[in-house]
Amino acid sequence: MLKPIHRVVCSPALAACQRMMRQLSLWLCQPATLAASVTQHNLQLPVLVSAIEANWLWAFLQRIDAGQSLLVHAQTLAGMPIVEKVALSTWVQAVSALTAQFQPAAAPWPVSAPAVSPPAWKAFKALMEAFYEKAFKSTGGLPYLADGTPTDTSGVTYADYVKAFRDAHRLNPDPNGREVCVLCGGPLGDTPHVDHWIIKSAFPLISVCADNLQLICSTCNEAPNKGDKPVHSAGNYTDWFHPYLRPGNGTLRLDYLLPELAVRCSATTPADQVKVENLDALLNLSSRWTKEFKAEYLKQQSVLLARERRRILRNQPRHSLAEILTHVQQWQDDLLPSEPHHEVHRVLAAALQELARMSAWHAELQSL
Ligand SMILES: [Zn+2]
Repeated sequence: MLKPIHRVVCSPALAACQRMMRQLSLWLCQPATLAASVTQHNLQLPVLVSAIEANWLWAFLQRIDAGQSLLVHAQTLAGMPIVEKVALSTWVQAVSALTAQFQPAAAPWPVSAPAVSPPAWKAFKALMEAFYEKAFKSTGGLPYLADGTPTDTSGVTYADYVKAFRDAHRLNPDPNGREVCVLCGGPLGDTPHVDHWIIKSAFPLISVCADNLQLICSTCNEAPNKGDKPVHSAGNYTDWFHPYLRPGNGTLRLDYLLPELAVRCSATTPADQVKVENLDALLNLSSRWTKEFKAEYLKQQSVLLARERRRILRNQPRHSLAEILTHVQQWQDDLLPSEPHHEVHRVLAAALQELARMSAWHAELQSL
């Protein structure tokens, strides 16, 4: 959220898959759909819009998950009592209306699983997560081209999505340039993670939802940072940013606290303060940025101390206060917005130019 987050070229394929998952779920919840109704013929219109999707879905249902075919999971759902079908159907409708959560007077978000039997929930979870784990992540991919057109060959895959996301968020267009995490502004790293903003274990229906996926650094994604933490307050999204539906980019402000050598994260406008605090708590941004602030501070200090020692060895004039200031200003001028931790380094550059800090460094160099 420190950086802008964009939908990518193959996002329509993910959105189309999300629609298919919703349509399948709602059809299985219809009172007239029985276990025996789940056939290749019955998946055609009006359940699914195209024969390509229906045939793909039938082949998908033949795949095996934990010793059972996905078809058995679908049959379990179709065989639920009516009361459970109503509960699951209501839950599916509510979760599908994710966008509405970021509009005024949103209906409550379902914080708990629907009132269905544990085996039915297990079947639903396995079936929905399989779209992500067994279709999206496989070489065959989803049955859609990047623009969402159904296809029976070369559909969008996880690898396509990762590449598209990287390409759309490169701050330096040269492929050799360092990549930056959109959430924290640190290095994206060699092993970035596809993050489900709303966790897929609790909301498997949106495991392939374009608005629920983003590529972030592993540090942001793993505990004690994001991990499995909720991104709402007991089902209320009012005080939360969302990567696509309520972007936080441009609302985060970094300040330094010089005596503590710390970075503080706040909002550029008071209306966003709670959202920024929630994002900070979710990702531990202040403490992670403070760590980088201190590390870069130490580096700059070490560079100056090494230069001072070289001057002493060479019998050259010692650093003046003005030279230290020039060093910091040149480093500041050379900071590139496309490099990791740009915002933290900018804050550090401003902090270092405080007279008290300059004088302290000057005194330290003089004492060598
Ligand atoms: Zn990150």
